Amino acid sequence: MNAKTSNRILIGIVLGILLAFVGVSVFGVEMTRFSWLGTLFLNALKMLIVPLVVTSMVVGITGLGDVRSLGRMGGITVIYYTVTTGLAVLTGMILVNWIRPGAGLELGTEIPVTVLGKENLGVSDLVLSFVSDNIVASMANLDLLPIILFSIFFAAVLTTLGDRGKPAIAVFESLNEAVMKMVEVVMYLAPVGVFGLVAGRFGAASGEPGGVAAMIGSVGKYTMTVLLGLGVHAFVVLPLILWLVAGRNPLRYALDLATPLLAAFSTASSSATLPLTLEAVEERAGVPRRAAYFVLPLGATINMDGTALYEAVAAIFIAQAAGISLSPTQQILIFITATLAAIGAAGIPQAGLVTMVIVLRAVGLPLEGIALILSIDWLLDRFRTTVNVWGDACGAAVVAKRVESARPSTMGPGSPAA
Ligand code: ASP
Repeated sequence: MNAKTSNRILIGIVLGILLAFVGVSVFGVEMTRFSWLGTLFLNALKMLIVPLVVTSMVVGITGLGDVRSLGRMGGITVIYYTVTTGLAVLTGMILVNWIRPGAGLELGTEIPVTVLGKENLGVSDLVLSFVSDNIVASMANLDLLPIILFSIFFAAVLTTLGDRGKPAIAVFESLNEAVMKMVEVVMYLAPVGVFGLVAGRFGAASGEPGGVAAMIGSVGKYTMTVLLGLGVHAFVVLPLILWLVAGRNPLRYALDLATPLLAAFSTASSSATLPLTLEAVEERAGVPRRAAYFVLPLGATINMDGTALYEAVAAIFIAQAAGISLSPTQQILIFITATLAAIGAAGIPQAGLVTMVIVLRAVGLPLEGIALILSIDWLLDRFRTTVNVWGDACGAAVVAKRVESARPSTMGPGSPAA
């Protein structure tokens, strides 16, 4: 898609969001009438996820040439994911221990329905969910992690077949071109779709007694703590890494990524945003496809900086509200399990709320505490999803720079002159 068209779409998205907010402030809950437009857009995006993930992983990995390069790329990617997620959790933990938003609050007495049936979720369940016994069922359920692992395995094997693997690789390349074209077509729906999503969700919120203000209610300090942490990570930590390690101008990169970032806020789903993230990172920001196609699909499911930060803040907030003081060992356990819970959370709305059970159980905190943060979670989810997508996009640039530095001639048009 050319720059002019994608700029027009971006302006359309911004106008769509503004119009939705103005509409909600004037017509309130009536705006939910438009939510079907959002659903239509969301469905169109979701429809593309499986073909896109499979073809882009195969194209990205087979494009690396041999399995050894995959090891190098995988290694750098894992280091990036681990360091940035760790920094996000640390930021959240420092802020929540300092601000103490839970002090003086009362816990609820009931475990919310959202987590009922999931009370026993543990770390082993996470690991088990990585591999599926039925890849078709995983595809039907949009269960991305097993699909990604299958694709990596499949593509790695293809690279070892030499000439016999080439026809299959050519088919995947062609299919990938076609699916990316479909993404471009769906992007034309984005302004109207984003309008529908924002009008629908914020319209519904305004229809609740007291509106958004009442939802924030007693958890205003907690909301501010999460937002502050997300802000530090998104505006300070990630841009610094992007600038220092990838040599990119963070502002320019963020502008290139504006469409998927706004879509992440509107959909609250990293997975649904993935088609747009791939398009923007490759086409607009000019990150080489080999890196983008590997880092982004994987990142959309396991690299969730915003979710990890929120899990840590929420767990310590619940401890404060329950009047439980956490030992240093328990704080370390929260650090580790918040990271794992973010890895385990699917890229769908409010998945982090459910995997929070892992963090709470690890340190023996009451699951009833989740009720305290439930009312405002839909809103915080939008902010953390935006940070998750931003983290993935920065990762693509960082990994590309580290892996491709030996082959500068492959850099795309938007790459830094470095
Ligand atoms: N909604 C988030 C995402 O899709 C996951 C979560 O934190 O609930 O990235």
